[in-house]
Amino acid sequence: MPEECLFCSIIEGSVPAKKVAETGLTMAFLDINPRNPGHTLLLPKKHYTHLLEMPDKELTGFFSDLKKVSTAVQAATKADGLSISHSIGQAAGQMVGHMHFHIIPRFATEAPPGLESVLSVKKMGEDALDKVAALISAEMSGERKMDFSPKPKDEEEEDDAFNF
Ligand code: AMP
Ligand code: ZN
Repeated sequence: MPEECLFCSIIEGSVPAKKVAETGLTMAFLDINPRNPGHTLLLPKKHYTHLLEMPDKELTGFFSDLKKVSTAVQAATKADGLSISHSIGQAAGQMVGHMHFHIIPRFATEAPPGLESVLSVKKMGEDALDKVAALISAEMSGERKMDFSPKPKDEEEEDDAFNF
């Protein structure tokens, strides 16, 4: 465990938490700042900073536990739906550097409907869409990376705002 990891300390029991589930691979406990009652965090017991660091062989077990805990959270809170999210890196809002998924009960009466709505829609032209799709496809097929620096701008700004 790296020094000063809050979630490793919770897993080893030196920091208290409201634990709701534990398997050999994962632990789930209530978020200390619940966005809705029942807001739960699921994390691997082994320290990884985020999903991209987790070895492939551990993914199936992790996502199986994510499904089980999510099912229990929804049943227990009688939620109409769930938002499940995972932030990778400070730019995405990750505050605690130990991989965790948020499982947040959602209710039909509340807004906004999706966590994605915290980001404004970016206006992108056909060329820019084709380019970013080609770059991601190339990464998936193992082709050589192209350097690019996306420069997001808001909807009201020019078309083709993403200039790679
Ligand atoms: P993130 O921004 O995805 O890194 O979220 C970290 C989450 O951890 C936040 O929602 C915090 O409220 C939550 N959190 C921080 N400290 C604790 C703690 N001691 N016990 C439970 N949840 C915590
Ligand atoms: Zn940790």
